[in-house]
Amino acid sequence: MFLGLSARDLITLSDKSEAMIKKKILVTGGAGFLGSHLCERLLGEGNEVVCLDNYFTGQKQNVVHLLSNPYFELIRHDVTMPFYIEVDEIYNLACPASPIHYQYNPIKTVKTSVMGAINMLGLAKRIKARILQASTSEVYGDPEIHPQVESYWGHVNPIGIRSCYDEGKRIAETLFVNYHQQNKVRIKIMRIFNTYGPRMHPNDGRVVSNFIVQALKGQDITMYGDGLQSRSFCYVDDLLEGMIRLMNSREDFTGPVNIGNPNEFTMLELAEKVILFTGSKSKIIHMPLPADDPTQRQPDITVAKRELGWEPKVMLDEGLVRTIDYFKSII
Ligand code: NAD
Ligand code: UDP
Repeated sequence: MFLGLSARDLITLSDKSEAMIKKKILVTGGAGFLGSHLCERLLGEGNEVVCLDNYFTGQKQNVVHLLSNPYFELIRHDVTMPFYIEVDEIYNLACPASPIHYQYNPIKTVKTSVMGAINMLGLAKRIKARILQASTSEVYGDPEIHPQVESYWGHVNPIGIRSCYDEGKRIAETLFVNYHQQNKVRIKIMRIFNTYGPRMHPNDGRVVSNFIVQALKGQDITMYGDGLQSRSFCYVDDLLEGMIRLMNSREDFTGPVNIGNPNEFTMLELAEKVILFTGSKSKIIHMPLPADDPTQRQPDITVAKRELGWEPKVMLDEGLVRTIDYFKSII
């Protein structure tokens, strides 16, 4: 007897608490911007989460609030090395996403995408887990068709400054499809378009965080090129909803599927909104446009709507205000 409970009572109790844990899930890149929100959400849904990260662009700070949860585990590990664990699902997010970070060590970026995919797919094969790849709109390169549909093969420079990321993500998609066809691995490929929100790193160089931080500090807003290039920005909560729906979608739907907000803005329009919502006196200055910077990008989300019943809900103005509030709190 323990606290007046018989062994049978204790077993029943333990069964019940185990039954409340829905799934055991591995999130690679879990200490990054998207990964940390994903860990939080999966835990909130009653799952057990193992977060794996080498802290290249992510930080412990992003998940420190989850450490007291007994169903959360944080492991320092580089996905270019094999990793062994028993889980039901794997979300493979490990890879620097900001151009300045993925260009810092391009060989490592390729290794992370390619060897990371091989290691995680090998693991998924062995343990029969479902695995989702965080792919990117960059697989379309500087697209010649607009908006971009999943059937478009892309327009990518194989030897440019963005190639380590673009081609790394393209070969990762190839590996996912090959493991699916050859080894019956249960895959999901998600093509993520520019996503923003709280917990973006203030110095990671992406446009939304750069403009907001510059505006809040009263610094010049650094506009690369004429600012007429476009992007379509998705708020992080919407993105995660799409990601989780994709993981839980019917077995024979593998993707690739575009997840992004189809509302398209030029970088000048984005800067004007940031200046307006921050009440900043910052001025826009123009700087050289980096090589191979895509001129336009807009997801066609017909497949996501049809297969996942998903579409974004948070429009740019609302998402920017929430993100500005976050940066105000940390600057
Ligand atoms: P992020 O840089 O904040 O997160 C990436 C995480 O991966 C970081 O925590 C980093 O430390 C970790 N990481 C990098 N290399 C690793 C390695 N070798 N081993 C283990 N961990 C490693 O970026 P994010 O915006 O959160 O992006 C997450 C994923 O989504 C990436 O795969 C990215 O390519 C993809 N994606 C993001 C966007 C976006 O707009 N945020 C768009 C398209 C695709
Ligand atoms: N950009 C800019 N100023 C900045 C950072 C980025 O004008 O301080 C531009 C960049 O040239 C690109 C767009 O904003 O055209 C989006 O850049 P980001 O690095 O966020 O993402 P990606 O180019 O990968 O879509």
